[in-house]
Amino acid sequence: MNTSAVMDDCKLSPYWWEQVPRPRLPDRALPKTVDVAVIGAGYTGLHAALQTARGGRTTIVFDAEDAGWGCSTRNGGQISTSIKPSFEQLARRHGSQRAFEILKEGQRSLDWIADFVRSEAIDCDFGQVGRFHAAHNAAQYEALGARIATQPKGLEVDAFMLTRAQQRSELGSDAYWGGVVYTRHCSVNPARYHQGLLARVLSAGAQLAPNCAVTGIEKQGALFRISTPRGSVVARDVVIATNGYTGGLTPWLQRRVIPIGSYMIATEPLPEGMMDSLIPNNRIVSDTRRVVYYYRASPDRRRILFGGRVSYHETDPRVSGPKLHADMVQIFPQLRDTRVSHSWCGFVAYTFDELMHLGKRDGLHYAMGYCGAGVGTSSYFGMRLGQQVLGLPEGRTALDGLPFETRPFYTGNPWFLAPSVAYYRWRDSLPV
Ligand SMILES: Cc1cc2nc3c(=O)[nH]c(=O)nc-3n(C[C@H](O)[C@H](O)[C@H](O)COP(=O)(O)OP(=O)(O)OC[C@H]3O[C@@H](n4cnc5c(N)ncnc54)[C@H](O)[C@@H]3O)c2cc1C
Repeated sequence: MNTSAVMDDCKLSPYWWEQVPRPRLPDRALPKTVDVAVIGAGYTGLHAALQTARGGRTTIVFDAEDAGWGCSTRNGGQISTSIKPSFEQLARRHGSQRAFEILKEGQRSLDWIADFVRSEAIDCDFGQVGRFHAAHNAAQYEALGARIATQPKGLEVDAFMLTRAQQRSELGSDAYWGGVVYTRHCSVNPARYHQGLLARVLSAGAQLAPNCAVTGIEKQGALFRISTPRGSVVARDVVIATNGYTGGLTPWLQRRVIPIGSYMIATEPLPEGMMDSLIPNNRIVSDTRRVVYYYRASPDRRRILFGGRVSYHETDPRVSGPKLHADMVQIFPQLRDTRVSHSWCGFVAYTFDELMHLGKRDGLHYAMGYCGAGVGTSSYFGMRLGQQVLGLPEGRTALDGLPFETRPFYTGNPWFLAPSVAYYRWRDSLPV
């Protein structure tokens, strides 16, 4: 392993945390009662809380760590329509009308987050930069072309194909077989977005209880008693927003989400102007592999931020850093001598049907399972969930009431992950 690829003082924490230090919130006593208790202070939980607090409900948001410690300040800041299954797959499972509505929700989430950031004036390097989605072999290039040419009526998105000969206009690499540019996809500084969102939740009057893990939820008639090491709170409504960190607190949900580590690195600053040859149009980038790579320029265009899945089993950022560097150099050989300054990871939540789920179970509201692409959708569905708590008709979504599947004997420990990654890596290596 090329450990010289990593700087001696490489930080094992997200690059984003440098400009946005972890929030320090005053230590306030817990209230005895609230209207709404939200568990998880990432995008899902904060967006739900913003709705309920602005809707006049006393709201408290708990997080086991500091606010935003989970994926919501660790991610790549790439925003798309984020529904993974295709129209055909969804139509087979749910009928074509429901499939259409589900995909529409994904499109709405992209438009909605752009409007939200703009209307709330959140300063977070948000931009509609577009995505270059690169084909890792010739067959995938053909498949992308076919998908763009046969988009279902009413679900068309702005996109154009680039051949292998043309791709240098988007990427300083010959590692791909061309690809597609989705012009409406966006990028954001995820931690600054979280910081702005948190500020709005606080000014709407919600209370934050960071470093306060919820250890129990007990039904007491029509109410819930929320237990924490700092005392308990009685709430009328409870929102579970724990996504990839969902644990034994909610066993029914734990059996339905698959926690998977996603790993990222930041490079040291590149020489001035070098980014103009690597990612000239500032697109976000991903590829067609099942075990996908995703990358982009940092907002100041001095570093590459590169992410992916590095190993069959979960590992340490000390191990993942050099591996991701090696993968990055396969795509950009010109970065061979550029070292890694930050290496980190976080846990995303997959689901068995590759859809996010939101709803109500045993009186508890929940939204989770964004399958690794949740910046836009966790914001949007968190917002919708908050509206559902308020009983507003606009809170309804096309995903409400979808069966939330589990598998026999699955209790939250994805023993099948390593063989699945091995299988998908093998599939990715085939010319199909
Ligand atoms: C490295 C990485 C890169 C990613 N890149 C992208 C990307 O480019 N684009 C994209 O769309 N998505 C990306 N994602 C996914 C995206 O970040 C998530 O889908 C999204 O942030 C989920 O938000 P959330 O609020 O649901 O969960 P989180 O932000 O993970 O928040 C869950 C919170 O729940 C808390 N919690 C858990 N249990 C308890 C408890 N018992 N009591 C109190 N608190 C509890 C946790 O401490 C955590 O802070 C990435 C994720 C990672 C890790």
